[in-house]
Amino acid sequence: MSTITRVHGEPGKPGVFLVPSASQPALGHQVAYQTEGVAYCTCPGFQHRRACVHVEAAAAHVRAEALGRPTTPEAISTARDRLRALERMFS
Ligand SMILES: [Zn+2]
Repeated sequence: MSTITRVHGEPGKPGVFLVPSASQPALGHQVAYQTEGVAYCTCPGFQHRRACVHVEAAAAHVRAEALGRPTTPEAISTARDRLRALERMFS
C-alpha cells in the first residue's frame, strides 16, 4: 500500500519523497529525508511538531529500500512473477 514516490536520490539513500496526504489524497507532501531524526516535511503538522506521519513513512520507505525489498507496484509485481516461476520449477 506504499504509494510514496522518490523524486530525488538513490534507493536506500537520503533523498526527497512525495508522500500522499491522508486528508487530501490528490495533494502530496514533500519530505526531504537525510537520516533518522533528520528530515523535513512541507505539511502544517511538521511546522508545529517537527515530526509527522509523512517523515515516518519516508523513513520506513528508505529502510525497506536499503533491505532490497520491492517498494513500487512494478517491482512487487516482478517479484511475484519470479516467485511463481520458481514454484512452477519445483512442482
Ligand atoms: Zn508531514
